[in-house]
Amino acid sequence: MADDVLIVGGGPAGMMAGLLLARAGVAVKVIEKHADFFRDFRGDTVHPSTMEILDQLGMLDRFLKRPHDELDTARIRVAGREYVIGDLSHLDTPAPFIAMMPQWDFLDFLRDEAAAFPSFKLVMEEPVAGFIEAGGRVAGIRYESGREEQAGRLVIAADGRSSLVRRLDLLAVETIGAPMDVFWFRLPRSGDPGDALRGSIETGRMVVLIDRRTYWQCAFLIPKGSGEEIKARGVDWIASEVRKAFPDLDFSGEGGLTSSADLHLLEVALDRLVCWHRPGLLAIGDAAHAMSPIGGIGINLAIQDAVATANILAGPLAAREGVDHLLHKVQDRRLFPTRIIQAGQKAAQEAVIGRVLGGAPITRAAWPVRMLDRYPMLRRIPGRLIGLGVRRERVRSSLARPP
Ligand SMILES: Cc1cc2nc3c(=O)[nH]c(=O)nc-3n(C[C@H](O)[C@H](O)[C@H](O)COP(=O)(O)OP(=O)(O)OC[C@H]3O[C@@H](n4cnc5c(N)ncnc54)[C@H](O)[C@@H]3O)c2cc1C
Repeated sequence: MADDVLIVGGGPAGMMAGLLLARAGVAVKVIEKHADFFRDFRGDTVHPSTMEILDQLGMLDRFLKRPHDELDTARIRVAGREYVIGDLSHLDTPAPFIAMMPQWDFLDFLRDEAAAFPSFKLVMEEPVAGFIEAGGRVAGIRYESGREEQAGRLVIAADGRSSLVRRLDLLAVETIGAPMDVFWFRLPRSGDPGDALRGSIETGRMVVLIDRRTYWQCAFLIPKGSGEEIKARGVDWIASEVRKAFPDLDFSGEGGLTSSADLHLLEVALDRLVCWHRPGLLAIGDAAHAMSPIGGIGINLAIQDAVATANILAGPLAAREGVDHLLHKVQDRRLFPTRIIQAGQKAAQEAVIGRVLGGAPITRAAWPVRMLDRYPMLRRIPGRLIGLGVRRERVRSSLARPP
């Protein structure tokens, strides 16, 4: 069977779009440049909005059988004191918590579910180098390996923040900007499990820890562009800063941060494409709008884009109709939530992260944080925003039932 839709990138956006289109009977091929999904530098949060979608697809029970931790409260430590700032437990949704699952496990799950559909194909370790054009529209892809070009009725760019559509200047980018980058590394973990996600803010220092059961995955925020300068201070200095941020935790054990080769610098970007499509080509997920890690919502926004894409395009694609005239509808649908979330991330970057990393003295939490900690009812508001987001998608009933 020829592939109708070629999806570049097997991240959350690409895998979910591939799964949904294949469920609708569309011949789809997802092309991923890495050999597996086992990469460290991905977030671990699966939010209630994504689990709602899994529920609509009848996949939630199977998803929750995979190893994960459940988090229904958001906490932050500011200047040595812990504050509760979000409560998801009251959400009216099938899974009112954040499932902490390494992203490679989540992607393995989507791959296993998609494999049940004969029109789904996944090609690993095959970087895409560019697009082919015919008759004024994108008509397929070129592989980096020199393998034969492949034609498709629609190409979906789901290849993340350094997407080909950006590198090849096919679609213009509007930069919003971020004041920080992140060093991403592991530290050993001992002791009893506690909260699966922890954050600490103090003068000049911001750290987030994810409990991956056998080690801590650490995100150490640094001022944008200062990677080399911070690296020169040495890995022992960085590890000691994390220990100071979480004096109650036990970091003893083997492995972790031993040399600068163990440090991965993740450049944080906040931007979006002015136009997400051109004839024959649609960008979704981080390729269309690079998200800051704030709130841990990028994965979930990528999944919502995939659902909107399938809701709008699967029917006509399955009926072998042209879809170029429909591509703008995906952007029309998803631009509003993207704008709102990016505006929230920008505000948090300016009000908190830029100030903290700029060395502003942090003696106690800002008043909104203190209010949330004091009045439990108020915590439901950030809980709802983080958990369910803005304008959440619902899988069309025709897609929820496989053919
Ligand atoms: C430090 C950091 C921490 C984060 N933490 C979280 C978090 O905890 N929770 C959260 O929700 N979000 C988090 N985010 C944001 C989140 O990672 C992204 O928003 C999300 O991964 C976007 O999904 P995507 O599928 O659009 O793109 P990606 O996840 O970037 O996937 C793109 C895929 O395309 C592949 N690819 C790229 N180029 C090619 C090519 N030429 N050919 C073939 N394949 C290609 C890549 O290998 C990759 O698999 C974080 C971001 C950062 C920077």
